[in-house]
Amino acid sequence: MDKLSAVRIAVREAPYRQFLGRREPSVVEFPPWGDGKSLVVEQNEFHFDHAFPSTVGQDEMYLALILPLVEKALQGFQCTALAYGQTGTGKSYSMGMAPPDKIQKPEHLGVLPRCLADILERVNAKQENEKEPIQVFASFIEIYNEKAYDLLGSSPHTPMVTARCHRCTCLPLSSQEDLQDLLQQGTGNRRVRSTKMNSSSSRSHAIVTIHVKSKTSHARLNIVDLAGSEGVRRTGHEGVAKQEGVNINLGLLSINKVVMSMAAGRTVIPYRDSVLTTVLQDSLTAQSYLTFLACISPHRCDLSETLATLRFGTSAKKLRLNPMQVAR
Ligand code: ADP
Ligand code: MG
Repeated sequence: MDKLSAVRIAVREAPYRQFLGRREPSVVEFPPWGDGKSLVVEQNEFHFDHAFPSTVGQDEMYLALILPLVEKALQGFQCTALAYGQTGTGKSYSMGMAPPDKIQKPEHLGVLPRCLADILERVNAKQENEKEPIQVFASFIEIYNEKAYDLLGSSPHTPMVTARCHRCTCLPLSSQEDLQDLLQQGTGNRRVRSTKMNSSSSRSHAIVTIHVKSKTSHARLNIVDLAGSEGVRRTGHEGVAKQEGVNINLGLLSINKVVMSMAAGRTVIPYRDSVLTTVLQDSLTAQSYLTFLACISPHRCDLSETLATLRFGTSAKKLRLNPMQVAR
């Protein structure tokens, strides 16, 4: 396999939302010269590591974008895959965070169950040759309004002390059934607030971490499903919800700041700027791998959000020209 960059950015276009009726052409174009890496929106050209049109299925996206990360995790590295973008653009679908009962066909399975299948397969194969036990665990955390909740713990509605987030509940994972049970339990404990745009949209970040632990190493694979990044006005919330809107984007910006500080060789890294970066602290080091999946809408009415999402992706590209890679 090619040498994997420490930071990678991909874009995925969502399919049409049916209730929008009349089928207009998508605002997103994938030019034939783009080599699967470029897209054009209203004459703005963008270049990423991957540009997936809505015709690309879960399997293809997983193989191109996430499997290389799983392999790094199995080598002992800390890895994070993070989906961001406007509500309704397929973040939860892509990451496999949707409540399990909603998924019928195997081709719709998202990143999480596919990661687990590959991890268990490799770990089991390794175990046959080596004596050293390898254990696979998972935790499930929600961040809502700058407070973290241990969704698998005994009091999932009481915020954790942020400094102790790394002590959240971990459950053993030895099968897809274990994962389904864990997602069911965790999802049931999430705080869901409906917005004008998507009645089941969540206003919080969700992080499922798969831990692969042996005597000598402890690798983490964080699968992060960020809350919708749309502007507050658009979703029509007031008061508390407005406060949420602010915090929703804080996490994403803080990740950028943390990686930027590491790249600049700073000694003080601003992990404490947000709960998201505090929770991910162990996974955001100079030896870590970080993959962004920017989810965008094909609809013209979402154009400004789409451009904002793509521009954030462009700014994140700067993160890869850094000593993190040189050091490796
Ligand atoms: P988000 O988490 O970004 O708010 P969702 O993942 O909930 O968005 O997606 C919104 C709806 O669109 C869901 O019903 C989901 O199943 C569907 N969906 C999203 N992306 C795809 C896709 N690539 N193929 C099929 N259905 C999709
Ligand atoms: Mg979602």
